Amino acid sequence: MTTRVTRAPRVALIGECMIELRHLSADRLALGYAGDVFNTAAYLARSAAPGTVDVQFVSVTGDDPYSLAMREHWHAYGVRDTYARVLPGGKAGLYLIRTDERGERTFQHYRRGSAARDLFGPDQPAGIDDAIAGHDLVYLSGITLSILTEAARARLVDVLAETRRRGGRVAYDGNYRPSGWSSPREAAGAANAVLAHTDIALPSLDDDRLVHGDGDVGACVARLRAAGVGEIVVKLGERGCVIAGERSLEAVPAVAGAAVVDTTSAGDAFNGAYLAARLAGVAARPAAEAGALLAAEVIGHPGALLPLQPVQDQPV
Ligand code: ADP
Repeated sequence: MTTRVTRAPRVALIGECMIELRHLSADRLALGYAGDVFNTAAYLARSAAPGTVDVQFVSVTGDDPYSLAMREHWHAYGVRDTYARVLPGGKAGLYLIRTDERGERTFQHYRRGSAARDLFGPDQPAGIDDAIAGHDLVYLSGITLSILTEAARARLVDVLAETRRRGGRVAYDGNYRPSGWSSPREAAGAANAVLAHTDIALPSLDDDRLVHGDGDVGACVARLRAAGVGEIVVKLGERGCVIAGERSLEAVPAVAGAAVVDTTSAGDAFNGAYLAARLAGVAARPAAEAGALLAAEVIGHPGALLPLQPVQDQPV
């Protein structure tokens, strides 16, 4: 990916970060903050050389103590919040993670009234749309779309179109959480509106199978190409990923023998490392290898985020 600037590339990642309460035992919980797009932002910031990328998380939080602590958490992970509004009286969404005796994890979400659902709503100043569209890369996911109203999604699509008109790029991961949609068909409609303005698609085949009915990698790639997406990497879990070149498909294996403790956010980490490499001018294959390497490290640890070395905000 070539960038049209000589200054540090500016990336806006749009989504929701939630309060995470993870069971340590039946009656003890550990507090954290995570969410698919935020995880990608944190891994992008971690993967980029210090000061070489401006990573902005675009969201809405409340003004309660948890929302304030959440923002400190973003900063500690090298993620900035210049365009993340505060909704007075609003609260952050929350989810609980429980692991049963067989190691199966279940999630319980409390996000209906979360402040992030105000993204692209009537209270969002037009200046935020304009600022997002001025970025070199705008990233979002299917989960971002699932928390928005139809009107808000339409406004977001306008921002993506404007981003590209100004020379920026759009990256999309169709992460699918069935509970966020009335049907896969609704999710597919929202995804298609975004894919019409997408330069880089980083789907998981498992998700796109459920949403779009893709039978295999070839079908997934053909559909994305037909939508006009130029750069496509399809993630396949422990089978690695496939990069779609102009005519051929190139398989990139996952790291063999990786210890698996918790696969949460493997794809988010992959995306963060992949995009950081591409922004640095690295070719798609070594960028995907960097994604696989970071994902393998992440799945060896519990929770969505590796314990990062806290960094100060970098002047960029
Ligand atoms: P998502 O979390 O979006 O569903 P995937 O599960 O496809 O994404 O995983 C993304 C990447 O993480 C894969 O392409 C692979 O490189 C790595 N990965 C996932 N599971 C494993 C595993 N069991 N062993 C090694 N690498 C893995």
